[in-house]
Amino acid sequence: RSNAEKFDFQAEVSRLMDIIINSLYSNKDIFLRELISNASDALDKIRFLSLTNKEILGEGDNTKLEILIKLDKEKKILSIRDRGIGMTKEDLIKNLGTIAKSGTSAFVEKMQTGGDLNLIGQFGVGFYSVYLVADYVEVISKHNDDKQYVWESKADGSFAISEDSWNEPLGRGTEIRLHLRDEAKEYLEEDKLKELVKKYSGFINFPIYLWASKEVDVEVPSDEEESGDEEETSESSSEDETEEEGAEKKPKTKTVKETTYDWEVLNDMKAIWLRNPKEVTDEEYSKFYHSLVKDYNDEKPLAWSHFTAEGDVEFKALLFVPPKAPQDLYESYYNTQKSNLKLYVRRVFISDEFDDLLPKYLSFLRGLVDSDTLPLNVSREMLQQHSSLKTIKKKLIRKALDMIRRIADEDPDEFSNKDKTETEKASENDEKKGQYARFWNEFGKSIKLGIIEDAHNRNRLAKLLRFESTKSEGKLASLDQYIARMKPGQKDIFYITGTSKEQLEKSPFLERLTKKDYEVIFFTDPVDEYLMQYLMDYEDKKFQNVSKEGLKLGKDSKLKELKESFKELTDWWKNALSSENVDSVKISNRLDNTPCVVVTSKYGWSANMEKIMQSQTL
Ligand code: ADP
Ligand code: MG
Repeated sequence: RSNAEKFDFQAEVSRLMDIIINSLYSNKDIFLRELISNASDALDKIRFLSLTNKEILGEGDNTKLEILIKLDKEKKILSIRDRGIGMTKEDLIKNLGTIAKSGTSAFVEKMQTGGDLNLIGQFGVGFYSVYLVADYVEVISKHNDDKQYVWESKADGSFAISEDSWNEPLGRGTEIRLHLRDEAKEYLEEDKLKELVKKYSGFINFPIYLWASKEVDVEVPSDEEESGDEEETSESSSEDETEEEGAEKKPKTKTVKETTYDWEVLNDMKAIWLRNPKEVTDEEYSKFYHSLVKDYNDEKPLAWSHFTAEGDVEFKALLFVPPKAPQDLYESYYNTQKSNLKLYVRRVFISDEFDDLLPKYLSFLRGLVDSDTLPLNVSREMLQQHSSLKTIKKKLIRKALDMIRRIADEDPDEFSNKDKTETEKASENDEKKGQYARFWNEFGKSIKLGIIEDAHNRNRLAKLLRFESTKSEGKLASLDQYIARMKPGQKDIFYITGTSKEQLEKSPFLERLTKKDYEVIFFTDPVDEYLMQYLMDYEDKKFQNVSKEGLKLGKDSKLKELKESFKELTDWWKNALSSENVDSVKISNRLDNTPCVVVTSKYGWSANMEKIMQSQTL
């Protein structure tokens, strides 16, 4: 084309495209879901803008927020069109090739170590999956602020952009034209496309149409009529003739099948969160979760909560606990603000980067909130300030913690289920077995961070805490379980901190306690040191670090006597070490075999904390 400008793909994007083109990945279907998801995003964007500016939608067909799929079997072209926001020339250059997103290199790296291509959408590079099935792709786009442009590439390291003077004007939006490879001919079958839209895009909130063929009966003039030979007409039609007297000149017709085309809608668009929870199946929730997080494997979310909040602030919400924590969940913990919830206002998508719908420690949850109370026609910034957000947040936290507690309640392995009869346990869903340990493994740290950060819900969160102890026998125990096992007369909850259970089991601090059959909690995560600065008590029991000063194990009448008789030694020792090194040297009853230990003062940092502070890890 004479007016085409050529651009090189950014290096990482080029590598990504090579990987996709040469991939032996068998599930090529995913490209369609990625294109529909992009179309849906583009429609969300224009709809959001139209809330504050009605004119932006234009008129006629432009106002229809829809996705249109068309096939050209002869030319082997599959096209997906939306009436979304469209892309300006600059958008096309930036979004489709020259600016690598942060996820690009991460995804390339993943793919080189045998990662799953199915996750492409999560890394923000879903568009390029088109090259799984096409060797030449055109993107025609019209944005309100610019002319219509065509982006095109054969994935040979470069793409071209031209002002579009030959295609039909789009009005507004984007059409992606895939020139399918020979091996990908199946995507020219209507049935295949219908199946894929059902499978992957069932939760898209805009209508998806297919230009679909239909066999219809049509009346055509019969050959007999054309020849004018009326003698050869069949019995039945001569009967007709007798009925309509004088209609001899009426042309004779016959019924034949003819293929016609029309737009056929492929999805039902009823938002799942608007449905009655009783009527939504587990499988539907699971599928919705996968489409929400763009992770299409078979792993079910660990739990979900679907509810309607009523009162001053009305909203519907659907929350999920993912089956796994993302790798970087805690790496980026202090840098990320955004929660992972999508915000809708009266079914209209507003944002998926809305700050402060959930506290940071619950940012691992996924899901959405659809509010009836928030105003529609204000900017995102104004919404962010809205007073009802506080109430929404508060209710979401409560529901989220309830949902997490329910994982434990329904898990037959959990202590809270101890008092159930064996038959009750057996009748419980086997799928729930071990689920809380799984949750704890993935997200336990979030609960601990919650105890640190959320004073208001501290007790509720402490209930969710799990740990190993001198009596847990390799399993996880809860504070309620600890309390149930406390010895008569025991006042405090004993714990010890360190780098590993193995190391702690050998600790001299435990000698006496285990001998006397007291249970001691092992806290071995660096965050536990911080945690225990905030978690002072639980159910009126105080926490006592057994490596710190102040451990009381009941009365020992001999102690006073011993203190007296060893006073000379302790005084000498204290002097020898000087006050820079120790606060005091004392006789104590906390040891059994070990002759002496270094103990931290009540308000000082434990030895473990000193180590953590030196290495500065959390
Ligand atoms: P993601 O959707 O995660 O941002 P993609 O690789 O799927 O990543 O798309 C890249 C970008 O290209 C999108 O962020 C968007 O800006 C733009 N884009 C893709 N498809 C469309 C479309 N149909 N309409 C408007 N913009 C689009
Ligand atoms: Mg996308």
